[in-house]
Amino acid sequence: MMNIDEFRKNAHETVDWVADYFQSIEKYPVKSQVNPGDVFKQLPEKAPEGSEPYSKIINDLDEIIMPGITHWQSPSFFAYFNANNSYPSVLAEMITSAIGAQCMSWQTSPAATELEEMMMKWVANLINLPDGFTGVIQDTASTATLCSILTAREKYSGFNVNDKGISNNMKFRVYCSSEAHSSIDKAVRISGIGSENLIKVGVDDNFALRSEELEELIKKDIKNGFKPLTVIAALGTTGSTAVDPLNEIGKICKKYDIWYHIDAAYAGTALMLPENNYLIEGIGYADTFVFNPHKWMFTNFDCSAYYVKDQEALINTFSILPEYLRTAEGDRVNNYRDWGIALGRRFRALKLWFVLRSFGTDELKNKVSSHTLWAKELGSTINSEENFETLAPVPFATICFRFLPPGIDNIEEINRINNSLMEKLNGTGKLYLTHTKLNEMFTLRFVIGQTYQEKKHIDSAWELIKDTARNYSQ
Ligand SMILES: *Cc1c(COP(=O)(O)O)cnc(C)c1O
Repeated sequence: MMNIDEFRKNAHETVDWVADYFQSIEKYPVKSQVNPGDVFKQLPEKAPEGSEPYSKIINDLDEIIMPGITHWQSPSFFAYFNANNSYPSVLAEMITSAIGAQCMSWQTSPAATELEEMMMKWVANLINLPDGFTGVIQDTASTATLCSILTAREKYSGFNVNDKGISNNMKFRVYCSSEAHSSIDKAVRISGIGSENLIKVGVDDNFALRSEELEELIKKDIKNGFKPLTVIAALGTTGSTAVDPLNEIGKICKKYDIWYHIDAAYAGTALMLPENNYLIEGIGYADTFVFNPHKWMFTNFDCSAYYVKDQEALINTFSILPEYLRTAEGDRVNNYRDWGIALGRRFRALKLWFVLRSFGTDELKNKVSSHTLWAKELGSTINSEENFETLAPVPFATICFRFLPPGIDNIEEINRINNSLMEKLNGTGKLYLTHTKLNEMFTLRFVIGQTYQEKKHIDSAWELIKDTARNYSQ
C-alpha cells in the first residue's frame, strides 16, 4: 500500500509524466488506432490480491492504455467539438481531487459554493450575458437542458407533475430545429413529455430554425389543445454551428407565454468577442441559457455553465429535504444540491478560477479570436480551391466542407468518396476529423480551437487533406 512518502515521490514523477505527455503529444496518432477488444484482452480478469508497485502500474499505463487513447488535447484534433483542458485547469483538477470534497450543500464546503457563485458571475460578465441570470455549474449541457425542461414542466403545471405524475390532459409540446442536439431528444423522453411531443422545426439555407414555421406550428398546436411548453434555440448547432434567430424566437415565446431555453454549448464562449454582441439582445428573452466552458474555454471536462432567471422555479423543481440533509444555515445560503439532478457534486469552480486567473480574460479572448480568424481564412481557402467547397457559413471556428472529386456528380458517390477520404486521413494519425450530414451531403467538419494550437497545425492539416484528396482525382 502506498504511504505518504511514496505518494510524494510518485506524485512528482506523475507530474513529470503529464508534462512529458503534453510535450510529446504530437508524436501520438491523434485518433487511437487500436481495434475493438485490443485493450480489454491485455487486462487480467481479476483485480490483484496483493499490492502492485506504482512503477508497474505506470508501465502498463504506457504499454496498454496509451495506445487506446484518442488525443483530445492534440493540436491536430479537429473532430467533434474540442473538450479542452489547459495547464492551469489540470493543476486545479489535481487539487480538486486531493481535497476530494463532496460539494452538495454550503456546509459541506462553504468555499466551493461561494467560489461557484462568484465564478458564475465572472463568466456571465465575460460572455456579456444580459442581467437577470443566476448561474450554477452542471456536469454537462445535456443535464442543463434536461433541468430546463423539467423546470418548465413544473412551472407550467403548477408544480404538480412532481407530485402527481404527468396526466393525460397535459399535452405539452417542446420545439427545436431539425438541427438541434440529440440531448433534447433524450430530455423529452426522460421528462415524460415524450418523443412524439418534440416538434422539429425546419431550417433555412443556413441551417437556422425558421421562426415563421415555428409560430405556425405553435398556433396549430394551441388550436388542437396542446400546451406549447418550451422552445429550445441553438446558438451554434452541433452539425454546422448555425445560430437560430434568437430574437424572433424570443418574441414568439413571449407572445405565447412559452419557456425559452438557449443551448449555446459550444459557441457560448465566442460571446466574449465584441463581434458577437449582435446575439446578446436575443439572449435577453431566454429563461435559461447553457454553455460549456469544457468545450472552448480551456477548462477540463466536466464544466457546464447553466444560467436561469427564475431561480425559485428551479429550486422548487429539485429541492427535497430529508432530515439527514438539513443544516443550520437553511435558506440563508445556496445549497447547490437543490439546483439540479444529482445530490453529489464535484468542486468544479476551482478549475474555472485557475483558468480565468492564469490566462486572464484578454488572453482567453485572444485565443478565441485567433481560432475564429483562422477558421474564416480556411473557409475562404477551401472555397477558392477548385475541388473543394464549404457547405455552411463559418460564424465561429468550425468549417463544414467537402471534396468534389472531378468528373463525379452522383451524390451517393461523392458521399462515399468523402467518407473514405476521412477514414484515410484519420488513419494517418496526423489529424482527426469527424463528419455530419447537411442536406444529405456527407460533410467533413474541421473544428479549430484546441488550447495550444497554432496556425501551422491548421496549415499542415489542410495540406494533408489536399494531398490525400489528390489521389482520388487521378
Ligand atoms: C456538445 C453539445 C451538447 C452536449 O454537450 P454535453 O456537455 O456533452 O452534454 C449540447 N448541445 C450542443 C449544441 C452541443 O454542441
